[in-house]
Amino acid sequence: MSEITKLTKQFRVDHGKDFRLKDHDPASTAHLHSKEHAKELLNESILRMAELQNKLYAQDQWSLLLIFQALDAAGKDSAIKHVMSGVNPQGCQVSAFKVPSSEELDHDYLWRNMVRLPARGHIGIFNRSYYEEVLVVRVHPEVLRGERVPPSLVTKHIWKERFEDIHAFERYLSRNGILIRKFFLNVSKKEQKKRFLERLDEPEKNWKFSAADVHERGYWDDYMTAYEEAICHTACKQAPWYVIPADNKWFTRLVVASAIVETLEELKLHYPKVPAAKRGELSAARESLEGKTAKSSDRKRSSRPLVIE
Ligand code: AMP
Ligand code: MG
Repeated sequence: MSEITKLTKQFRVDHGKDFRLKDHDPASTAHLHSKEHAKELLNESILRMAELQNKLYAQDQWSLLLIFQALDAAGKDSAIKHVMSGVNPQGCQVSAFKVPSSEELDHDYLWRNMVRLPARGHIGIFNRSYYEEVLVVRVHPEVLRGERVPPSLVTKHIWKERFEDIHAFERYLSRNGILIRKFFLNVSKKEQKKRFLERLDEPEKNWKFSAADVHERGYWDDYMTAYEEAICHTACKQAPWYVIPADNKWFTRLVVASAIVETLEELKLHYPKVPAAKRGELSAARESLEGKTAKSSDRKRSSRPLVIE
């Protein structure tokens, strides 16, 4: 087993049924104790990710959807920034989902996510997602009331129904070649407090501070229950969750990068094979570039002669 597989396996949840958050330590760094070694591994993963993304793009069949969920200050933004630093931005789009706009509230809750799904060959990153619909919306019943779902459809079964719909939606996506990997950055309450205080103490972090985040902290236990149930009901082989220790940012980044590399490796990606007909075009182009005049018989061979000036 490679070092990367060893690292990611213990945090991957393929079957949610028995998932319990209390079994996951936010401060874990697994068997790694050296930040320096972790940095080396992260750099290797980022280089490998770039190669794999190139193939994903060239092959133009699969796409990868990466969903990031966490409480405030767990490090979503910085994990996304670091992990994607080696990726070609042309084949990668990041979408952040905030409080829905009035136009978004005029639609079903998957609508705004649908239009941001990655095209074939691309990587799509969701910074928050439709999972908020079973998290913040569950923790704050007034948010659900604001969604204007017909009251007869809002019963005590609503969360179970949403889990079923999300599960079915993800199955649909995976059957269409969109690979889904979901990351819950699991920060402890203590570490969150420390990071909020840093936002107050350090002038260059002041902009990140939000009193609303401190207010949300008051609902910590409700969020933990909501996350546990969401993972329980939606972790499956085709759309696993990674529950990633988030008290040490260097470790979080490494596990996220390793999980992405592992996922892309599983696809056995390869560059498209050049068909025989196209090979003729390539050699004609080479001759043209090298200044050799193609014979008229050669020119006839290709139905679409390549003209390179
Ligand atoms: P941030 O990601 O810190 O900029 O905050 C975005 C805020 O939008 C968070 O407080 C989320 O809980 C909130 N949010 C995201 N999606 C939804 C949703 N579907 N309904 C209500 N609030 C949401
Ligand atoms: Mg925030």
